[in-house]
Amino acid sequence: MPDRAIASALLRIDLDALIENYHFLCARAAPAAVAAVVKADAYGLGARPVATALTDAGCTIFFVAHLAEALAMRPVLSSDEDLYVLNGLQPGAEGVCAAAGAIPVLNSLDQVGQWSALARKAKQRLRAALQIDTGMSRLGLSPGDVATIATDRQRLAGVDLSLIISHLACADEPHHPANAVQVDAFEKVAAHFPGVARSIDNSGGTLLARGHFDMVRAGISLYGGSPQSGRPNPMAAVVSLDARIIQWRDVPARVGVGYGLRSVSDQPRRTATMGVGYADGWPRRLGDRGSAFIAGRRVAIAGRVSMDSMTLDVTGLPDELLVPGSLVELLGPHQTIDDVAADADTIAYEILTQLGRRFARDHVRIAATTAQRSLRV
Ligand SMILES: *Cc1c(COP(=O)(O)O)cnc(C)c1O
Repeated sequence: MPDRAIASALLRIDLDALIENYHFLCARAAPAAVAAVVKADAYGLGARPVATALTDAGCTIFFVAHLAEALAMRPVLSSDEDLYVLNGLQPGAEGVCAAAGAIPVLNSLDQVGQWSALARKAKQRLRAALQIDTGMSRLGLSPGDVATIATDRQRLAGVDLSLIISHLACADEPHHPANAVQVDAFEKVAAHFPGVARSIDNSGGTLLARGHFDMVRAGISLYGGSPQSGRPNPMAAVVSLDARIIQWRDVPARVGVGYGLRSVSDQPRRTATMGVGYADGWPRRLGDRGSAFIAGRRVAIAGRVSMDSMTLDVTGLPDELLVPGSLVELLGPHQTIDDVAADADTIAYEILTQLGRRFARDHVRIAATTAQRSLRV
């Protein structure tokens, strides 16, 4: 990562806001535990500093998607902390998974067979979760597969089943009828394994007004994204992003701006260009439709977003706000990750996970130091 003195944009990740969100979710989920989903480098925010802050706050259960992510993550966690791999086991990956002390989420009868065979061979009990497909048709055992295991318990020989999970397809739509249908199916199938912990809710599900079984698996809500569409977002913002102005200019009437000269005005304009583009995860889709904020004033993106830069229409702003090196808010108090996602026709998950590697990154604890924003990592 570039140093903040020379970087063209500064990404700030507020670990205190993360912890505030964790505590909020704990209160909503109780008595269920809150597990943290830190896949995709904690949605782009840095899995190591995020997991360290969450363990300090009392979180003991973590989920990643890939085994390779678990290998990178395991040394950061203590042996008291559970690390699950959502995508389960690739053929032949069971030895690496067991050696790493990661717990696979077994998604098929073949994966159950692989894990059990390893446990028997190693004469060791190996922990695992089972995922049940209750209607999303993505990953997991079918209810029929579960019945097969339930009648032939030998299939789980050597396996220490610590968790049964399923995943909701429509948890971000609180009134979608599929939510209740999936929960009913989950309860029926999980009844084959009395006493084993159960988990079905992601962030959206955690805000649904009902019980949450034994554990929720929270991702986007920890990172400040809105868990449910069309409802006010109760989460604290975790990410802010400020880009530096490289230069500004006065553009005469009828002169085009950017690739394709697509942005043209009948009036003279003033523009400012920043060093953030689609290679930094700022969606190209935001050309001529996205916004930024300078001293709290909204300015529009003019023309196409380039790979490494984009231009703002700053007509009417005084020179002193446009000095090269001064900061423009891309994410912050005036513009959330959900606002940007809406402008780009996507979801906050995609905005976060694409955030670029060319930004300077500070993990800060804002509340702990109140006015003084301190560097932590
Ligand atoms: C990504 C993921 C989550 C977290 O979802 P959020 O909506 O980000 O809270 C939970 N469970 C599974 C199976 C996932 O793939």
